[in-house]
Amino acid sequence: MNKQRLTSTLNKAKQVCLENGRKFTIQRKQILQILLTTDVPLSAYELASCYKLRTSSSVSVMSVYRILSFLESVNLVRRLNSANKYIAYGTDSEVFKREISLFLICRHCQKVETLAVSQSDVAKLFPHFADVGFTSQTKQFEMMGVCSECQAKLA
Ligand SMILES: [Zn+2]
Repeated sequence: MNKQRLTSTLNKAKQVCLENGRKFTIQRKQILQILLTTDVPLSAYELASCYKLRTSSSVSVMSVYRILSFLESVNLVRRLNSANKYIAYGTDSEVFKREISLFLICRHCQKVETLAVSQSDVAKLFPHFADVGFTSQTKQFEMMGVCSECQAKLA
């Protein structure tokens, strides 16, 4: 993410926190910034290590979990259930505008491609839901696979 996009995302994040009656503390900002500037999803432990490297101060893993839980509650980060790791997006990203995210996770390089989809896309993908009278409330789908770059390297 370039510097301009990072700055605008952090400003927007601050606004989102204030709208939710919460402070955008230095720790929340740092954790979000690490996620925004890292290519791969990170676990709470990895975030705590990165935090130490970048700020030369430490944060406990418990605190990182609390921060992540808060950032997730205001839709600034997403947790990948399959990997138990976290990712963040620019607030101008489609992910923020659409109802559902589809995460395509590369097994080799851990990179995540995200597609924003709508409820009707899901209905088209899984037409059998309607047959059994099921309404999906899932906000994200995760698929493991191999990205195009890794496919090229492996070929
Ligand atoms: Zn890959």
